[in-house]
Amino acid sequence: MSHVLHRSLTQSYPTAVGGDGVYLIDAEGKRYFDACGGAAVSCLGHGDPAVIAAVQQQVATLAYAHSSFFSTEPMEALADLLAEQAPGELNYVYFVSGGSEAVEAALKLARQYFVEKGEPRRRHVIARRQSYHGNTLGALAAGGNQWRRQQFQPLLIEVSHVSPCYAYRDQLPSETPEAYGVRLVAELEAEIQRLGPEQVMAFIAEPVVGATLGAVPAVPGYFKGVRDLCDRHGILLICDEVMCGMGRTGALFASTQEGIVPDLLCIAKGLGAGYQPIGATLVSQTIVDTFRNGSGFFQHGHTYIGHATACAAALAVQQAIAERGLLARINSLGEQLQQALEERFSTHPHVGDIRGRGLFRGIELVQHKASKAPFEPTLKLHAKVKTAAMDAGLMCYPMGGTLDGRRGDHILLAPPFIMEDRHIDELVDKLEQALNTVFNT
Ligand code: PMP
Repeated sequence: MSHVLHRSLTQSYPTAVGGDGVYLIDAEGKRYFDACGGAAVSCLGHGDPAVIAAVQQQVATLAYAHSSFFSTEPMEALADLLAEQAPGELNYVYFVSGGSEAVEAALKLARQYFVEKGEPRRRHVIARRQSYHGNTLGALAAGGNQWRRQQFQPLLIEVSHVSPCYAYRDQLPSETPEAYGVRLVAELEAEIQRLGPEQVMAFIAEPVVGATLGAVPAVPGYFKGVRDLCDRHGILLICDEVMCGMGRTGALFASTQEGIVPDLLCIAKGLGAGYQPIGATLVSQTIVDTFRNGSGFFQHGHTYIGHATACAAALAVQQAIAERGLLARINSLGEQLQQALEERFSTHPHVGDIRGRGLFRGIELVQHKASKAPFEPTLKLHAKVKTAAMDAGLMCYPMGGTLDGRRGDHILLAPPFIMEDRHIDELVDKLEQALNTVFNT
């Protein structure tokens, strides 16, 4: 009997014992094509010798030094690299151990910024429905995913939710994508006015929505409209790039593809590529200057901030991405993957939409293509897809439909950047096998 409190108390899990490039290997020797990087984490695949060497060397040199006593070389070097790569005035890096902590830090940075600035009434966060920003209480409060939130209501911070940017379901037939974006920005503006702009602290959104919608980019102009609106009302814009950032969509920072720079930018998964747990919040010069001219102290912290081994791993991962020219590959592989998915599945009766950007792709499953009617959430189709895919030797990241029927089940694909052209066929073949099993075709 396992003494691990796994998330599911009814399921049993194979034991992963090794990794080799794009594959994970279980205790029985079965190989799984890791087409989702777990949860968009393993962007360099498994067993990368350069990253392993960096981790080994760092842990042998200095395992741990608490960040309120010391800085460390890997932490400084990684912060330098990220600040250099980041757009605009995102000049500072606050290190944490994962995505929820990165969002939590962003929310507290935002709140302290306004308190120090003499605008303490600004405490309200606006996020989008069907969003996920993490499972710690603050991040959970920000997210609009009912399935994750409902047992824990009332949550601790004041949040209201507006519509996500989800063209497949919500763009009207009479609307252009641009007009749809303008309508959504107007909805956000109305919410800001309803709350009173002087009460609103931040708007948080994923540039390309991962787990909750399934690799959904915004329509053109939407994020520019959001940025303008936030500027007009002095509201901070937080981009949650925990899943879509660090190259996943073909740019190091997905928000740059929208032509905007947020005030706070959260990253995690691809940062350390799973070789170590690490996340970070990139912080604007303006926010840091306000702290510097005020208390001179950010009232937050964790024991493992900027853990030396985690920073060394992330540094090696990011150097590998740059030195091996992987960003350019992500774009071309992403196009090929989209094409292969469309060729194989666009006529499938239960595939409603195939979408995404870079090596971040989503497939939405529906009962009927024309009506876009989702499957009943109680069918747990996503769980069946996951099981069938694992049987076929494929890891993909399926998510259930929303309880209100506003979205169907979907499959998220986030394969490693080191994937080769031939792996695309393997991915599509195995996915087809899994869908055939689920739909009995
Ligand atoms: N934000 C987004 C967009 C995420 O996808 C996730 C994780 N799926 C998180 C935050 C939380 O990250 P973590 O699980 O590392 O705490």
